[in-house]
Amino acid sequence: MNNLLADAARRASRYLESLNDRAVAPEQQAVAELARFDQTFPEHTSSAETVLAELDEFGSPATMASAGGRFFGFVTGGALRASVAASWLATTWDQNGGLVVTSPTNAALECVSLRWMKDIFHLPERSAGGFVTCATAANFSALAAARHALLARAGWDVESNGLFGAPPLTVVVGDEVHASVQKALSLVGFGRDRVVRVPVDAQGRMRLDAFPDVDDRTIVCLQAGNVNSGAFDPIPEICMRAHLDGAWVHIDGAFGMWAAAAPARAHLARGVEDADSWATDAHKWLNVPYDSGLVFTRNADSLRRAMSVGGAYLAQEEDRVPYQYTPDFSRRGRGIEVWAALRELGRSGLADLIERTCRYAGRFAEGLRAGGYRVLNDVVLNQVLVSFGSTERTREVIARVQRDGTCWCGGTVWQGHTAMRISVSSWATTEQDVQRSLAAILNVASR
Ligand SMILES: *Cc1c(COP(=O)(O)O)cnc(C)c1O
Repeated sequence: MNNLLADAARRASRYLESLNDRAVAPEQQAVAELARFDQTFPEHTSSAETVLAELDEFGSPATMASAGGRFFGFVTGGALRASVAASWLATTWDQNGGLVVTSPTNAALECVSLRWMKDIFHLPERSAGGFVTCATAANFSALAAARHALLARAGWDVESNGLFGAPPLTVVVGDEVHASVQKALSLVGFGRDRVVRVPVDAQGRMRLDAFPDVDDRTIVCLQAGNVNSGAFDPIPEICMRAHLDGAWVHIDGAFGMWAAAAPARAHLARGVEDADSWATDAHKWLNVPYDSGLVFTRNADSLRRAMSVGGAYLAQEEDRVPYQYTPDFSRRGRGIEVWAALRELGRSGLADLIERTCRYAGRFAEGLRAGGYRVLNDVVLNQVLVSFGSTERTREVIARVQRDGTCWCGGTVWQGHTAMRISVSSWATTEQDVQRSLAAILNVASR
């Protein structure tokens, strides 16, 4: 193993060193070469060294350079140095993170990092959390907890009896609800479209004046950080209204919740702690390797009961048992990388990461406006939406930016307008990366 792991380390270092000089999107030729993997199932055993060499030779060149500093597509974090190294070590340990007995280390690190994150987000001390694959899974888990709590209150045991014949629940979402919440709604049996949609304002925020009457059988899904504009719903106001009538408030804060960590942006996340459940990602703005999401609920019991196994509810043991808070049973020890990222950054490093990436987003917006292009959103966070004119022209510029390879940005449709979206979410992005990328975008757009 010694030589093999050293070889993997050498290859990984070489890969990281190459990121600054290569095109961000893989070359077409490299993607075509992936056909080399398309062999029949081998009759015979190969050495691990051969397998690794083949993976590196044909796999590495066909990757998207999203670990580097100039990938601005979707909302994509890089991977902090300590979390990459921790992930390697943890993979070597090969722990089953579902139980305390199968991984005391993961269980301990989940507890510590949950405590730290509750502090960062100002969540109640007694709230519970679970380590899931992504924000979609976190939204799903939180909605399952909400479903449990509201139906239990109505005298219905949904874990045993399912939804057939259950008292109906109402779900309220904003018109700008993220597709992952809709998917989660379909998974928990509420239906994607069986929702009350609240109109939004020009930044995609739920309009308070259009908020409907709710009751104690209503789940309100709010957003902390719109995937396009970065805007936050009026969270404290809606929480207050919804709670007066006994509704459950869930917050999809896949990246936006982390604004709470930066003093200059924390006002955006004001009142987030008033909700009943929360979904966020570690693989976005915290810059932990994929896959890593987090669910939190104010009432620990609702999440534990929703995730209970085989209908039987295991009383809370002395120790927090990781699988009692997630859909998975056996799983990798995600707490290890999350802990490593938080441990490396500390409060000041996390604040700096959030603030710096927001500042870079502002820099992009200024540069694009100065170039004569229209920025479609108020750049309050790390997201920038820019139009280069007509739909066709904007699409053409996006395609050319991607082909140019200096950086990578994706397209989106914002309130009827086609736009290029720039999301600055990686710890690896430097001032120089922003200048180089901005110059490349302006150059491509001017041609
Ligand atoms: C990215 C995102 C999601 C989904 O996150 P995954 O980790 O990809 O499942 C949900 N909501 C918002 C607001 C997002 O930005």
